[in-house]
Amino acid sequence: MKKKVLIIGIILIVISLFSFFLFFNNNKSDDKSINDLLKEKGYSDSEVSFILDKVSKEDYDYVLEFGYDKSLINILSSSEYDENKFTDYIKYYMKNKDSNINDIITIINSDYDLDNYPASSLLASLVKEKYYINGNVARYLDYGNNHDVDFKKVIGIVNSKADLGFYSESLDSNLGANNLVLVNKFYHLKDDYMPSDLVSLGGQYNRGANSRMRKEAADAFMKMVDAAKLDNIILYNASAFRSYDYQVNLYNRYIKRDGKAAADKYSARPGYSEHQTGLCSDLNIIDDSFDGTDEANWLKDNAYKYGFILRFPKGKEDITGYKYEPWHYRYVGLDAAKIIYEDDITLEEYYAYYIEKL
Ligand SMILES: [Zn+2]
Repeated sequence: MKKKVLIIGIILIVISLFSFFLFFNNNKSDDKSINDLLKEKGYSDSEVSFILDKVSKEDYDYVLEFGYDKSLINILSSSEYDENKFTDYIKYYMKNKDSNINDIITIINSDYDLDNYPASSLLASLVKEKYYINGNVARYLDYGNNHDVDFKKVIGIVNSKADLGFYSESLDSNLGANNLVLVNKFYHLKDDYMPSDLVSLGGQYNRGANSRMRKEAADAFMKMVDAAKLDNIILYNASAFRSYDYQVNLYNRYIKRDGKAAADKYSARPGYSEHQTGLCSDLNIIDDSFDGTDEANWLKDNAYKYGFILRFPKGKEDITGYKYEPWHYRYVGLDAAKIIYEDDITLEEYYAYYIEKL
């Protein structure tokens, strides 16, 4: 009986040892064959060990299929190279053999679906930007390849629809966005829209005929004026809520004086004025002489702390469609104002990325 157990035990040990040997020997011969096969393709000894070190085992067949190409070493050498994206790099490279390897890697690493777009330094720069929206990529490339502007500007212009031409689309403003409602040369309010929670600014806070703002904006406005006063800066509203009818008269008066094209540069068409939202104020002096004053500078640096943004900044005319207005501030709430201020973007860009994209 004991002998029998011993014999069975020995047989089992022999079988396990044999399987163990077979397993490792097999693996060894696999390694050997990929080594040899790569060498046969034309890679040097050091290149072969570099490839085998950088590419995961399950992609070995893919490397062999790819064959000899020096670019493989360049791809694997990139500091941005990610082993898990190996086959994606190769597939994209095959379609873009003349493109810069780093651009290819950056574009693939972005994880956006861009297989059908040629690799270029413009595309690689775009995908790294915070406000890049993949659905706009065709228009980014079209605009960027035909205009001499940097890629940040390309994103701003396209996200804001300015590449389509101002007033080229006539969309209803989304009132559901509340404090972030967008009214510009694409989005307009209906002629009968009037906010239901307008309150009048009085006393030291106002010196204009149009003194009404929506409640939350008015409260924030007064808080801002009070804070400015502590810094010896005197601010006041010169013009806040304006009705649709008011804008009709204003706009017609400007057209009569300067013509339609000129009027469109500084005045909004009826329904397209932000003043109809009850969320903005023209402060102090409504002309260019306000620029550079202590009051204008204080606003530029501090308004966002109270939820207001400089709505039509200098250098953003091609995005907002309006010339620089140092006096026009718009309430958007604290969170949005902070982002808009810190990222140096406009409400158009904020809206496209944080509201419209979702
Ligand atoms: Zn204004």
